Amino acid sequence: MGTEKNTGTKGVLQVKKHRKKKLSVEELTQGVFNGNKAILARAITLVESTRNEDLTKAHTLIENCLSKESKSIRIGITGVPGVGKSSFIEVLGTTLTGLGKKVAVLAVDPTSTRSKGSILGDKTRMQELVKDPNAFIRPSPSGETLGGVARKTRESVILCEAAGFDIVLIETVGVGQSETAVHSMVDFFLLLKLSGAGDELQGIKRGIMEMADAIAINKADGDNLKRAQRAKVEFQKALQLYPPKENGWIPKVSTCSAIDKTGIIEIWEMIIQFLETTKDHGYFEKNRQNQNKYWLMQTIDELLKQQFYRASSVKKHLENMLQQVSEDKISPFRAAEVLMAAYRKELK
Ligand code: GDP
Repeated sequence: MGTEKNTGTKGVLQVKKHRKKKLSVEELTQGVFNGNKAILARAITLVESTRNEDLTKAHTLIENCLSKESKSIRIGITGVPGVGKSSFIEVLGTTLTGLGKKVAVLAVDPTSTRSKGSILGDKTRMQELVKDPNAFIRPSPSGETLGGVARKTRESVILCEAAGFDIVLIETVGVGQSETAVHSMVDFFLLLKLSGAGDELQGIKRGIMEMADAIAINKADGDNLKRAQRAKVEFQKALQLYPPKENGWIPKVSTCSAIDKTGIIEIWEMIIQFLETTKDHGYFEKNRQNQNKYWLMQTIDELLKQQFYRASSVKKHLENMLQQVSEDKISPFRAAEVLMAAYRKELK
């Protein structure tokens, strides 16, 4: 067998060159359909690419993948840094693969561009899952905007499903609008919380309670167990104040510990119950259809914005307009009109 040692430098170079060989869309599609994780990773890289020549290929690949039937479940998981998202996903993920499921873990981290690498989906924090043949973990794509990052993740979901993953977990940290973005691409949205020193509801972001299908108080172990149980009651009471959800589901609160591995299977059972309820009402399908429409509109917004800011006339005048606006020499609305007019002229 040829190892790197006995193939010599030339051999190694050839191996490297061979590895870099671009796969055709057909090869990528076939590899994804076969559930080949290495090819799935390369397919996602293509979808994440911002190079113009990759765009058409990526679109064809996604369309091919959309044609593959999937009965997957998409689950969003959010919570502040340190709440235990990675630890929770590691335990939930291995529990699910233990039940014979195939689990993909993706992440939406709008800070990944700034920090040069995602703080989420870090493989070293999911040591068991990363070795699991039935799991696939992918860190957050980077991007200039949350819209861009979210679009790439959403398309990766489609690829993972075509590769036969039954459950897609999407992790996000509550930065900016990232929770809204993830909420609009999943079937079930789970908020992880910690029990605090009393007022549990303080500091909770507006809108997040409405989005959550369940709240799990993590780190319910050791000295913290009692506090977690008290927090659970407080959240249950708080949730009763919200109007019933359109999907007919009453959000649940539970406690869990990723360290003791308690309360995890109960959360999975609750998700199954959620799916039964929302599928019965026809909400599950309707929600996915609405999400598709939402993403169409989002993508149009994103593309229009991109096109606008890349136009040379806009680049030329934007700085000047910003300066004038800051000095009150022109109103922001008038300045926007000036830029739009310059842009329209360039388009002609
Ligand atoms: P993330 O930033 O939300 O992904 O949080 P991590 O999963 O990295 O966990 C942050 C810290 O909390 C780590 O030191 C974990 O070991 C710890 N941790 C996570 N889950 C639990 C838990 O259920 N109980 C306890 N006691 N510690 C936990």
